[in-house]
Amino acid sequence: MLLISCPNCGSRDETEFHYGGQAHVAYPENPDELNDREWAEFLFYRDNTKGAFAERWLHSTGCRQWFNMLRDTVTYDILAVYPMGTPRPDAAGRLTAETGTGSTAADSTTTGTAAPSISGTSISGTSTPPASTIAPEGATK
Ligand code: ZN
Repeated sequence: MLLISCPNCGSRDETEFHYGGQAHVAYPENPDELNDREWAEFLFYRDNTKGAFAERWLHSTGCRQWFNMLRDTVTYDILAVYPMGTPRPDAAGRLTAETGTGSTAADSTTTGTAAPSISGTSISGTSTPPASTIAPEGATK
């Protein structure tokens, strides 16, 4: 059982919350230009990170507000809780400056303007955050 610290309400039991999936999945910049495969990538393909993973949560029986949470998928440790639309903290829970492609920075549900385009090259995973490209321990054995 997780004890989740809602940014508005404080620490509450996990049962008060609903999981909302991976955070920082930006809406396509040019949705009319996507083919079916690119749409499928946007709609259904998510990272399966072992370790620090940014995810969305809804405090459904409390303030009914969405927020982001950085959680270790191995230990279930909550590394950070931060508002929607703000950059993903690093694995230590600190906010980091955006230096990469920005593909993980935009939160399409709140900004909608800084969303990177999903081009044909993104299918291979060029827009995924670095943490997801690291093979889990033992994956190659
Ligand atoms: Zn709340």
